[in-house]
Amino acid sequence: MEQLYKELKNFGKVRPNASLAKFSNFNIGGPADFLIETTKTDTLIGLLNFLSGEGIEYLVLGGGSNVLFPDEGFRGAVIKISNIKYQISNLTIDAEAGMDLSKLVELSIQNKFTGLEWAAGIPGSVGGAIRGNAGAHYAFTGGEMKDTLETVSVWRDGEVVELFRGECEFGYRDSVFKHNTDVVLSGRFQLVIGGAKKSLEMTQKIVAERQAKQDHHSSAGSFFKNIMLEKWPGDVAKLPERFLNYKKIAAGWVIEQVGLKGYRVGGAMVSPNHGNFIINLGGATQADVLGVVEKVTIEVYNRYGVELESEVQIVR
Ligand SMILES: Cc1cc2nc3c(=O)[nH]c(=O)nc-3n(C[C@H](O)[C@H](O)[C@H](O)COP(=O)(O)OP(=O)(O)OC[C@H]3O[C@@H](n4cnc5c(N)ncnc54)[C@H](O)[C@@H]3O)c2cc1C
Repeated sequence: MEQLYKELKNFGKVRPNASLAKFSNFNIGGPADFLIETTKTDTLIGLLNFLSGEGIEYLVLGGGSNVLFPDEGFRGAVIKISNIKYQISNLTIDAEAGMDLSKLVELSIQNKFTGLEWAAGIPGSVGGAIRGNAGAHYAFTGGEMKDTLETVSVWRDGEVVELFRGECEFGYRDSVFKHNTDVVLSGRFQLVIGGAKKSLEMTQKIVAERQAKQDHHSSAGSFFKNIMLEKWPGDVAKLPERFLNYKKIAAGWVIEQVGLKGYRVGGAMVSPNHGNFIINLGGATQADVLGVVEKVTIEVYNRYGVELESEVQIVR
């Protein structure tokens, strides 16, 4: 362990026995053997090469806004990706994976570009958002990461590979990176000319709308993916009209219909404000959250015949 600690220090700041709760929005998770924060892409690549070459278990972490860690922690190395450099030329922004998504939105507006306003207020990193194809929809705007991404640079089994958008297999909160071991290093965003004032007003409106709806306890945001309309086994004509336009049924609405808002196991509860938020009331364990998840999944299946799918990455 001592030797490994010394070796890891070549790649960035190392925290032995680091509490993962402190690195996740859910505020849940035991200690990782080591947490290494990399601030440069070449040291991140070096570390990935080292860990994979030595056969040491690892996982990568961006902003920690979409993960549920185990109470036992993680035996191995957690890499906190904190490379944040960027470059702007013409209408493109190259952003490294560790940059906050909110910083990317800010850069876009400062340069009078448009196309990323929808991402205002979404926590997490650019890399995490690319991997999950983060997105948001409002009555007046909406979008997903894939809409403006041109290329993605990834670490893939010891090589750095440049992928075009079409090679990333983006779908609703999905990408090829959710199904392989690629680590996103950076993304190139292709934007169009907009107006800084208009964009700023739009982001302010979005943030205000989000704040009014969100629960302010620790959580990982929406726990379940919304349900694609074509997968709905019931009569779609009976659904609220907004879902027909959106082509998805909000998981939060479904959970509310089965009467589980406020359902609680230990320190975890379905938010009374938002049916798709599972909140940590304080001291919740992963087991508490999974207890809530199980109840919700069973009740929704029994009532509607649909299997809810987790949007949050559950590390077991
Ligand atoms: C209050 C709240 C509101 C939210 N609202 C939204 C919303 O409106 N829309 C939305 O889409 N999401 C939303 N989310 C979820 C979350 O913000 C997004 O999924 C975000 O993009 C996750 O990024 P992250 O850096 O925090 O990822 P993390 O939580 O750090 O990681 C998530 C997963 O991605 C992997 N990962 C992270 N970085 C990389 C990388 N560079 N390469 C490869 N894999 C990587 C991790 O290993 C993990 O499996 C919300 C979350 C919260 C807490």
